[in-house]
Amino acid sequence: MIDSHCHLNFVEFDKTRDSIIEETRKEFKYVVDSGASIESNSKSLELKKKYDGFLKTTMGYHPVYAGRNDEETSNRTVQQIIDNIDDIEAIGEIGLDFSEDRPEDELKRQHNRFHRLLEVASEYDKPIVLHVRDAEKHALDIVKKYPGIPDVIFHCFSGTKTTAVEAVDCGYYVSFATNALFSKKHKKNIKAVPLENMLTETDSPYLSPVKGEPNEPLNIKMTIERIERTKKISFEEIEKETEKNAIRVYNL
Ligand SMILES: [Zn+2]
Repeated sequence: MIDSHCHLNFVEFDKTRDSIIEETRKEFKYVVDSGASIESNSKSLELKKKYDGFLKTTMGYHPVYAGRNDEETSNRTVQQIIDNIDDIEAIGEIGLDFSEDRPEDELKRQHNRFHRLLEVASEYDKPIVLHVRDAEKHALDIVKKYPGIPDVIFHCFSGTKTTAVEAVDCGYYVSFATNALFSKKHKKNIKAVPLENMLTETDSPYLSPVKGEPNEPLNIKMTIERIERTKKISFEEIEKETEKNAIRVYNL
């Protein structure tokens, strides 16, 4: 099993990280840990060194930070990603987040910095992990303009079925997280996306299926069970295929 996207680097895990990783390691091949800012990118790389061979890293720039940060911080984040490009599996999470009303200049900065990172991914031949909220079709149209990017993952995809199908037609990956357990929209998307284009993740510590507790990689089993029920494909088959996809897309 592989958790293809989580944030074990976040402070929420400072007290529990080691024991969670120890437990997860018994059953999982890898966890892919994602950065969202300079600090969390550094932490993720540090964890990759500590849990060598098990924890993998993607460095990113969360669109909400990208929209708010000043130019200097933004340049430093992009430079950090470039400086560590050979030590990371992908660039992400990056993207667009329109889930709240945001001022015009913030949206403009999100766009500019997203484009900048897509250029970097193209130039250095790195896959990308997309965080997109309420702008899925828009982000898809932007990413299509960068055919040099080797692989695209829509992490925790929550867009429409039409956009999911279009992403699949482009050869992109659509990743389902534990929030897919409770939603009709995700159910439709799970039906529409073939296993060959599917990844599974938890996005820990977010999207916990257990009220009051932070999410953790082992909960990915519940996502797989949801896919099993929805697609009528066996757990083993889903596990095998999504694992193969994660290994391929991240070059693990
Ligand atoms: Zn995430």
